[in-house]
Amino acid sequence: MCYTIRQPETKGQTIPHVNSTETLQLFHDLGVYTHGHFLLSSGRHSDEYWEKFRIFEHPDVTERLCGQVAERYRDQAVAVVVGPTTGGALLAQEVARQLGVRCMIAEPTAGGGRELRRGFMLHPGERVLIVDDVLTTGLSVRETLEALQAYGPEILGVELLIDRSNGEASRQFDVPCHALLSVAARSYEPGACPLCRAGQPLVKPGTRKIPDQR
Ligand SMILES: [Zn+2]
Repeated sequence: MCYTIRQPETKGQTIPHVNSTETLQLFHDLGVYTHGHFLLSSGRHSDEYWEKFRIFEHPDVTERLCGQVAERYRDQAVAVVVGPTTGGALLAQEVARQLGVRCMIAEPTAGGGRELRRGFMLHPGERVLIVDDVLTTGLSVRETLEALQAYGPEILGVELLIDRSNGEASRQFDVPCHALLSVAARSYEPGACPLCRAGQPLVKPGTRKIPDQR
């Protein structure tokens, strides 16, 4: 696995944050990141598995990570933080709390895409920050951007905890996008998996059982 970390730009101000090694070690300790031989839901095999929801098991960690996001936008007059369900919504709540601004949730619609429901309303020109936990294809952020378009807000940027596309997927957005940790995802077709060739037992994430080989 290869990874890089992007530190927040703080304009000469020192804020508490974790560096790349510490972040990865933290995620490993929390069970967010696991190394092994895994069967992904796509059917492909991987030497790593990310269980992003383990971050939210520890609100103090969520608070600290969101603190890095909030610090980057503290001087930018954010009016609303919006996050797609479910992880993005939890992060949006914490980032908005730290910035002292409103929080909204972009929820899936029956026909695909996302929308603001429950009476959430943006006003034209309101300054909006979008947050999400993990970006892979960028679909949830793309849907969130589309859901907000009709309100005419000013989208300041997209903040992610982990970019699993190594920067590729985020290039599709026409607003600034930043991730605390950027990781290139690596997976294999079952027939071309070096871990299978090495005889390492295959594990279905979230279980301790070895699934049936097909
Ligand atoms: Zn394999």
